[in-house]
Amino acid sequence: MLKKKLFLFTAALFTVILLAACSGDDASGDSKEDNGKVQVVTTYSIIYDIVKNVGGDKVEIHSLAPIGSNPHEYDPLPEDVQKTTDADAVFYNGLNLEAGNSWFNKLMETAGKSGDDAPVFLMSEGVEAMYLTTEGKEGEEDPHAWLDIRNGIKYAENARDGLIEADPENKEVYEKNAEEYIAKLQELHDKAVAEYNEIPEEERVLVTSEGAFKYFSEAYGFQAEYIWEINQENQGTPEQITRIVDIINEKDITGLFLETSIDGRSMEAVSAETDVPIMGEVFTDSLAEPGEDGDTYIDMMEWNIKTIKEGLSQ
Ligand SMILES: [Zn+2]
Repeated sequence: MLKKKLFLFTAALFTVILLAACSGDDASGDSKEDNGKVQVVTTYSIIYDIVKNVGGDKVEIHSLAPIGSNPHEYDPLPEDVQKTTDADAVFYNGLNLEAGNSWFNKLMETAGKSGDDAPVFLMSEGVEAMYLTTEGKEGEEDPHAWLDIRNGIKYAENARDGLIEADPENKEVYEKNAEEYIAKLQELHDKAVAEYNEIPEEERVLVTSEGAFKYFSEAYGFQAEYIWEINQENQGTPEQITRIVDIINEKDITGLFLETSIDGRSMEAVSAETDVPIMGEVFTDSLAEPGEDGDTYIDMMEWNIKTIKEGLSQ
């Protein structure tokens, strides 16, 4: 009896080990032939979500910079190199986003995806670039195009075209998914215009830590102010704090906003210095964790509409 129990236990343990081994990464990597899905790599969570909406159940996506982190700078892990090497398609933002420490270019080289014919797709293809204005950085592209939902539509089109190139067999699926998703984005853009228009024009001033709202401001009639212009330089230096404090006092600004993917200490210092309250958190460079408000591109933009509107209508 004891012997039989021991045997059963050993057998069960062996099964568990075997299952664990099977579910782990195998060195040869997954390719479309293994599970029938197109293996996709995206550089950060917002692009992940757009590609997922277009790819549906035909794609399996590995996203690089984790949720809540800053995609301007990232140190790829060994797993990222493996997944990128095995990927059928890679999607990135471009416009200088994945440029900190040249992390993206280095990863593409290491993963053998730097050639002209590599399946690496630019999500911001066709977007009219806006540029930084900070001294010494003039002429560098501002990456935050997705905060204008019309650009989000371009991203969805580029996701569709890239997936069709990587997996022409499922062209019709990608076209149908993209069409439905783009209709939702168009509706959301129209809603954003209508909602933001209800804020008096002179009150449409958005102060955030990073100057991520250039494209947004042009689309929705805002004026954007910030502590630092982009997450690639010194952040929250005394000079930057003094500069924004002067602007806030001069323009009689009534509310500040904090980004979900940025350390809040600089904005808290600005708030303390000016006595202007922080009215809420907005999404810029990352989605929320799955299951929380803002865990999709559409949801994060909805959240921003609500938070900015309430924050500036006090
Ligand atoms: Zn940013």
